[in-house]
Amino acid sequence: MIKIKYEQLSALIDFLTESYQVYAPVKHGKETAFKKISSASEINKSKYNTSLNPKDIFFPQSEVMFTYTKNGIKSPPEQGKPIAVWGLRTCDTKSIRMLDKVFANAYQMPDKEMYKDPYWIARYKNCLLFSFACNEPPSTCFCNWFNSGPYDSSDSDIFVTDTGDEYLLEGISERGIKFLAGYPETSQADQTDLDKIKVLREKAESYMPPVVELSGLKDKLLKIWDDPVWDELSAKCINCGACAYICPTCHCFDMRDEGNEDKGKRVRLWDCCMYQLFTKEASGHNPRELSTYRVRQRVMHKYNYFVENYQQFLCTGCGRCIKVCPVNMDIRQIIQKILTYKEV
Ligand code: SF4
Ligand code: SF4
Repeated sequence: MIKIKYEQLSALIDFLTESYQVYAPVKHGKETAFKKISSASEINKSKYNTSLNPKDIFFPQSEVMFTYTKNGIKSPPEQGKPIAVWGLRTCDTKSIRMLDKVFANAYQMPDKEMYKDPYWIARYKNCLLFSFACNEPPSTCFCNWFNSGPYDSSDSDIFVTDTGDEYLLEGISERGIKFLAGYPETSQADQTDLDKIKVLREKAESYMPPVVELSGLKDKLLKIWDDPVWDELSAKCINCGACAYICPTCHCFDMRDEGNEDKGKRVRLWDCCMYQLFTKEASGHNPRELSTYRVRQRVMHKYNYFVENYQQFLCTGCGRCIKVCPVNMDIRQIIQKILTYKEV
């Protein structure tokens, strides 16, 4: 483990930019978001996770897949340097690893190669993820429900603890360890630093809510799939879609062709299962006509279907959907209601 003082961050970011496109949390209007930076002065050093999610770095809200003219099809430009992301939280890093399973490792599919997404892979390949310990998790965080916690380093390349005047950096993955070994301006962390981490960790963990046992959730959801309880669970929802757009793990998208017979482009953009038109078929039939069905779909996808396919929940407990919902739908309450509900 190495340490750098706050005032040495600039040198680290400069060193990173030599080999990587560097993304970090920045102010973005009233929000905080991950954007490409060229110097450390642009970084927003909040103690909380960003209000907007980090999936946009690897899976942009909209992207041109190709352009065409009468002379043929043109692919988007090469990505260039690999991507490094500074300032992720442990839940952010986990969400990126989950999306990599979807876009690049659909191992449950019969022909895996068909399901590899070249746009995701071009950005994700060789990326370097710096995840930060959360020293003061806000009240909406519940990552500890998912076998994780504010000091869970397991999916990081490099795990960073902010001690108040310096950063302690621990290489976790092979790539992270190699990067730190090649970084010249460092001093090694000592026992005093480890003691500081212990105190900070205990304090951070004390902020977390009591753990809710989720092992029965997947099967319980299947049992109540057709139960009237969904009317109650979805009653408040106005299907605005904010929860899906803000969620770091939601990944539905649409593709549109824009142009005419001479020239144009194909664009991919985020979509959302909370919208009525999301499943409307050409015949006019809509299997998820009612809001109830759409809320059920989102819950089923996160806590049943994804578990079936990838043996983990498609939720990190980041709390963003709780903060953003205009009618105060709270996914924690929905989960708890389902777990304790006695089916009809
Ligand atoms: S943010 Fe709230 S109201 Fe909007 S779609 Fe999600 S649950 Fe429904
Ligand atoms: S469902 Fe909510 S808490 Fe879970 S990952 Fe998405 S935004 Fe975060």
